[in-house]
Amino acid sequence: MIASIMPNYKRFDLAFEHGEGLWLTGTDGRRYLDFGAGIAVSSLGHSHPALVKAITEQAKKVIHVSNLYQVPQAKALADILVANSFADSVLFCNSGAEANEGLIKLIRRAQYKNGHPERTRIICFNNAFHGRTLATISATGNPAYLEGFGTPVDGFDHVPFNDIEAVRAAVTDQTAGILLEPVQGESGIRVADPAFLRDLRALCDKKGLYLGIDEVQSGMGRTGTLFAFEQAGITPDVVSSAKGIGGGFPLGAVLARETLAKHLTPGTHGTTYGGNPLACSAGLAVLKEILAPGFLDHVRKTGEAFGAMLQTCVTNYPTIFEEARGIGLMRGLRCRIPVGEVLEAVMAEGLLAIGAGDNVLRLVPPLIATEADCQEASTRIGRAAHALANK
Ligand SMILES: *Cc1c(COP(=O)(O)O)cnc(C)c1O
Repeated sequence: MIASIMPNYKRFDLAFEHGEGLWLTGTDGRRYLDFGAGIAVSSLGHSHPALVKAITEQAKKVIHVSNLYQVPQAKALADILVANSFADSVLFCNSGAEANEGLIKLIRRAQYKNGHPERTRIICFNNAFHGRTLATISATGNPAYLEGFGTPVDGFDHVPFNDIEAVRAAVTDQTAGILLEPVQGESGIRVADPAFLRDLRALCDKKGLYLGIDEVQSGMGRTGTLFAFEQAGITPDVVSSAKGIGGGFPLGAVLARETLAKHLTPGTHGTTYGGNPLACSAGLAVLKEILAPGFLDHVRKTGEAFGAMLQTCVTNYPTIFEEARGIGLMRGLRCRIPVGEVLEAVMAEGLLAIGAGDNVLRLVPPLIATEADCQEASTRIGRAAHALANK
């Protein structure tokens, strides 16, 4: 008989009782160093006092109202996001896929309102990941995620990542915009060339297209700047955010320039939960920590040191690892043996990591990780690799 919970995940036989900082205690009584952070979500680690306080205090006041009323917590969070980014206006939702749905709808709606109803298509990239709703599996384009779910949502054209000529060739009269991850996460930590991002911006300007950036995984400080695109010196038109933005509380956001945002007039789009008082209180607590003086510098410096440590793992265990990749605290090790075996081996050493495409071991610790934490993780990776190499 089927389990009461649906079988759509392949789960490890392990649950956790509680967590503190970078450490999780399993129901097996063991302690684990968490370099997965719930897939790049727990940006402040576990049980962060400021986040716990914000959630408990708000829960005692009011958890949910609705967007029929003013939500001061949402306005406060939007104000800070606007003050610290390219965006003029923010839409809140509940997940990464939902944020990308909003981003796609905004691009289409703005083109329509600008007198280009024929411009509905969005250029996406091979090996992208944008979520699991019907539209976002089409934007993702991975045949494994589309199989058996009927006719894919039309309007997404895929070209090779980091290939500006392929993008130029794909633009037609129906193209509305471009959507990409500045660091492809699920497919194996592939970093967009900064020159590629600048070329995309120039192409969008020339052709009247909107540049959409999916920062669901790479954003909210993970790469050492609030958003990863900032490092290329470009200004996008619309950006999606989720994962780390709530520090573990479900929250998503679409950040946009006024040129797009002004077309989302009353009745055009909505969500029941999106931006409720509890979620936005969590988001506020997280964002205040990330924007505190020195925090992003810390992520950048720690990330660089971690990158060097992972490079040493590659040098020391060349039969297990092929390449170290990534930026900030969004890192990956491409493996020479199946990544599943490496995941099991590091877990046996008390380290949690995440598999990604391209046979990559993904390492996305809480952003509060110190260099000593990274050293501890690298030591455990080394021990696991040693055991694997001598098997
Ligand atoms: C995880 C992810 C999503 C989907 O987010 P959900 O919250 O799972 O819907 C979208 N885009 C990127 C880049 C992601 O990493």
